[in-house]
Amino acid sequence: MWRLALLPVLLMLVLIPVWGAQSVHADKASFLGLRALVAQPDVVWWEWDVAIYGALEERGFEVTYGDPLDQASALSQYDLVALNTRRRLTDAEAAALASYVAQGGALYASWGGPMETSGFLRDVLRAANPRSVYIRGMTLLDGPLANGIGPREIAFAEHVGHQDMRDKGWEMVAMDVLGDGLPVAKDPSGNVLGVLSEHGEGRAAVLGFGPEQEKYLVRPELGPLMLDNLLTWLLGEKVKTGPSVWSKQVSIGLPARAEITGVEMNGRAVRDYRVRRVGSVREVELSVSQIGPGQEADLRISYRPLREARNIETMIHLPWGTLRAAADSPARLADYLKSLHATVVQPLLRGGNGQAWYRGMPEDKPDGRTVTQYQGNFLSDLIRECHSRGIRVIGGIYFDSTTPVRQHPDVVQLDANGQVRRDEYGSPYACFNNPQGQEYNLATIAQLVTSYDLDGLILDDNYELDWYVNNCFCQYCEERYRRYCEAHGIAYTDPTQAGDYSRPGPRHQYRREATRNLAAKVRAITQAHGKRAGGWVSVTTDATHLAGAFDFLGGMEYTSSPRSARLVLERMGECDLLALLWAPHADPAAMQREVQEAIHSGCAAVGFWVMGEDGGYQLDGERTEAVRRAFASVEEEWLAFYRERLLSGDARFAVTAGSVGRDRLRLRLRNTGARVSRRIAGEVSVDLPRVRGPAVDIPTAR
Ligand SMILES: [Zn+2]
Repeated sequence: MWRLALLPVLLMLVLIPVWGAQSVHADKASFLGLRALVAQPDVVWWEWDVAIYGALEERGFEVTYGDPLDQASALSQYDLVALNTRRRLTDAEAAALASYVAQGGALYASWGGPMETSGFLRDVLRAANPRSVYIRGMTLLDGPLANGIGPREIAFAEHVGHQDMRDKGWEMVAMDVLGDGLPVAKDPSGNVLGVLSEHGEGRAAVLGFGPEQEKYLVRPELGPLMLDNLLTWLLGEKVKTGPSVWSKQVSIGLPARAEITGVEMNGRAVRDYRVRRVGSVREVELSVSQIGPGQEADLRISYRPLREARNIETMIHLPWGTLRAAADSPARLADYLKSLHATVVQPLLRGGNGQAWYRGMPEDKPDGRTVTQYQGNFLSDLIRECHSRGIRVIGGIYFDSTTPVRQHPDVVQLDANGQVRRDEYGSPYACFNNPQGQEYNLATIAQLVTSYDLDGLILDDNYELDWYVNNCFCQYCEERYRRYCEAHGIAYTDPTQAGDYSRPGPRHQYRREATRNLAAKVRAITQAHGKRAGGWVSVTTDATHLAGAFDFLGGMEYTSSPRSARLVLERMGECDLLALLWAPHADPAAMQREVQEAIHSGCAAVGFWVMGEDGGYQLDGERTEAVRRAFASVEEEWLAFYRERLLSGDARFAVTAGSVGRDRLRLRLRNTGARVSRRIAGEVSVDLPRVRGPAVDIPTAR
């Protein structure tokens, strides 16, 4: 999967996602327990909300996502409101937010913030005239944001995940500063790139860039420092005093595979508790309101005996023609994967124009090396070699656009003007919403899961009907959308009124529903063969609507930080997420840190998109070694993460003693009466049955 960034969403909204692997924080405890609200953006390109959500949660904030913004009384319970890229505010929202800030609240708006709400921008954020600029760097000005940061010239990175900087630079948002507003940075032409303001008792900031998007910086470690500075300034005294309201709720972490059978507090059964899975942990949430300041309580959680299992899967994704390099010896590829400590390999088997690197459908364009010239069946051999080494194989399939159009010449995508939509080679796109456009691709999947002993199937980039590649207005799509509108009591608007595909609205909702229906058809086919089905998505909240439709999702975290998975994992339930990181161009040290960050964000599966310089599967020596080191220690890293997640919630609580065993967890919880600096304040033994990480058998690098 290779999802190119595209399409300005607003005039100014080309994408700028995140990244980062540092955990450089001023003082981790200074934000612990503070309550933050992250607003849902009003464009579908939602990587900003996952970026700021992840950054706040990582700092210990208790973060709520997407509550209404139009009630000042509801806002007052939050220490911070992160507006991120919410562009338009209603009058009621603007009034409630202004009143929230005036009464001592803190507001942070990212990457231009509410650019389409000029009154709020002017009156509260003290900025005007927001506009796009393309720049290669900026200068940080004296002020709170620059605290402790030596070099003020901040250069932007040439490569961010799979994207390259354009000649003119990355898109940022410049603005004019008004009155008593304090500019924080300037671009090379002197345009202001962000303003801090005081409004009544509170503070606010609108930035034209994102410190939470540190992957865009040549020195990414500066991002978290700037964000710490920003939050420290915005929150003022609250950083020292801590939260004014305690949640009186805590969460206790267990491995995700735990099946809870009972909870007791001081020997008495607790009935009112909630269990939910968040990635690699299962959390038991319960009230601790009966434990007063200075008091302790014994908590006991029972569960069915845990089976031995890994907590983290490690994956290698082999895109495009990388499999060709394995045609000489599938065993050698399997050895290489084993040497990396990969537990899952996910090769792309077929592209969108029918190129196939396995023996598939008669209509495919078979690859010479892996199919026509190969003695025997390459994919069968590869699966056997991988299975014999304990590596599972998930086959990747792009929907073929060419063959359905050949079979049904009318099943083509139309744009809003009724013109046929074509790919860069001039071939029409098939409409995958139309059952006739699905037919051949579903048959491909049936053939694949019938003929091969795969462990799962994943759809590659072009299946999402709500994604820009499927922005179709053909007769079938319009007729179905009209019916959807009727069923939901919505006024149908024709394609010319559809506007930008990325604006949430009924059409977007309809397309999401159509995507779930398509996913259900795919899943029904794989389930009939006892195999799991998934789809690749961007790591955004918008993609999580597919969590119930598939068995697992692949999350592409190339430009975004692994910590962005935090908000996604909150919404995944029992559906697995495979977090895929970008290896080409990556700094080897950063690759290792990203794996650690993914694990500490709760991901239960993490891996890399790899491609060698010769187009084959072998990364260069340094990056191979980075993957090997990172994958070798995932179970140890998980254990460190698990101890962090053992207790969360009400920031006054700490564990003073305890043990976590095969079928029982016992913790002594103490309400310290004030915000703690450490969650584990005594001996806690963790003795979980698990498969040990393969740290001891790292082969010597050549
Ligand atoms: Zn269509």
